[in-house]
Amino acid sequence: MAFAITQNCCNDASCLSVCPVNCIHPTPDEPDFGHTESLYIDPRTCIDCGACADACPVDAITRVSRLPADQAIYAEINADYYRDRPVVAEWATPKFPPAAINTMPRFDVAIVGTGPAACYAAQALLRVPSSRITFYDRLRVPGGLARFGVAPDHTGTRRIGEHFRSMFTHPRVTMKLGVDVGVDVSHATLSERHDYVVYAVGADTDRRLDIPGIDLPGSMSARTLVGWYTGHPDVPADAIDLTGVRRVTIIGNGNVALDAARILTADPEDLVGTDISPHALAALRASTVSEVVIAARRGPEHAAFTRSECQALVTRRGVEVAVSGPEGTKQSIEELPMSAPASALQNAAVVDLNDNDVVPALGSARRIVFGFGRAPIGVSGGQRVDGVEFEDGTVVASDLVLLAIGYRGRPSPGLPFDTAKGAIRNVGGRIVDDNDARVPGRYVVGWAKRGATGGIGDNKVDSEETVEALLEDIADAPPSERRRLGRVKLRSGR
Ligand code: SF4
Repeated sequence: MAFAITQNCCNDASCLSVCPVNCIHPTPDEPDFGHTESLYIDPRTCIDCGACADACPVDAITRVSRLPADQAIYAEINADYYRDRPVVAEWATPKFPPAAINTMPRFDVAIVGTGPAACYAAQALLRVPSSRITFYDRLRVPGGLARFGVAPDHTGTRRIGEHFRSMFTHPRVTMKLGVDVGVDVSHATLSERHDYVVYAVGADTDRRLDIPGIDLPGSMSARTLVGWYTGHPDVPADAIDLTGVRRVTIIGNGNVALDAARILTADPEDLVGTDISPHALAALRASTVSEVVIAARRGPEHAAFTRSECQALVTRRGVEVAVSGPEGTKQSIEELPMSAPASALQNAAVVDLNDNDVVPALGSARRIVFGFGRAPIGVSGGQRVDGVEFEDGTVVASDLVLLAIGYRGRPSPGLPFDTAKGAIRNVGGRIVDDNDARVPGRYVVGWAKRGATGGIGDNKVDSEETVEALLEDIADAPPSERRRLGRVKLRSGR
């Protein structure tokens, strides 16, 4: 009986290197890597050794025979990935760290940020015995999105934070918390103080939706809700007021939207003992929310959420999950292949969102409705929001509106910025200026490098690419030489 990869998969590929029979795919060398929401175990070749389960940082791998009922479908999902794929017998060429890492001169790296991309970069750098790292974070608590972005009920995924925390106490690591780089210390000063600087600053603003009423009280970013329930220091306890709120409409249908919907409809007692902030738990205990509408601009075949997150919603007890949309929506869902995210909604009831009665159907205490084909054109209300208007002429009465259409990086004076991507300008992790000329000694990882796409584990390969570039540059020019060249360039205006 094979093992299967389940809902928590973070895609960081730690399991691949320990599998003795190469039956976990896609690997970083395969075209699908980074495009599938999970890795999958080929049940035809798995020899049931369990090595991958031990290596997984988020406990996502389980023996098929031990899958709980609500995760049983993952046996089929793993097998389905291989349905039309041949058994991969050959191994990719193994990659070993260059022998030169043991003879590299001592160098020190400032890493700006302490989230997953920063930690994966540190992990790769610390393989070089002569490296020293200083983490900078504007917050006094390290962890970034591993701490303040992962929902408290995703306990498996949050476990990766423990793995990262060991990095912060490594003997070759120094922590500088409460230091806002670009404000408390300039980018130029940082480059003077350290041989290399790696920016892992993420994407800390929202994509804008310019529709009338979007800034009304009661309409806010889903990021605020996430920060509220994870206890982010920037988000005050009273940032979310659920008093009298019955229906919440979330504009956008990515995993952040699903996290928000799940927390707002959760039984608060199920959150006791998690890392949820005390103020959020108290508010959820008093909450009157009975329905959350997830408004997706397009149809179910274009769903932005992942199948695993949707699967986690439909298998919960006590919350009805329904769909709504133009004629043919249900049929479109039924025709989706198993790998399609919205195929998890095949057993969901169909409801009419034009009916403003928010009392859930079928006797459930709460309801989540996936509203497909809902392009928002305005948020209505006087002193406060009271509804969301859609292109098809419908209005969904709403007491709270959350915008969850994605994140964006923000330009920082002194760092070249790619406006189209919402990220720091770079080529393969090396920062470049507006003329695509290298900025010596400066690198970037994570969302700040590629734009706000991908989950925690996607940062591993991404950060390793940047560190590989940095180590190549050390081999080409030792740190002392590079700093001299870098200072010349910095003095000339950067
Ligand atoms: Fe590979 Fe062993 Fe995991 Fe099967 S149980 S996928 S053989 S590491």
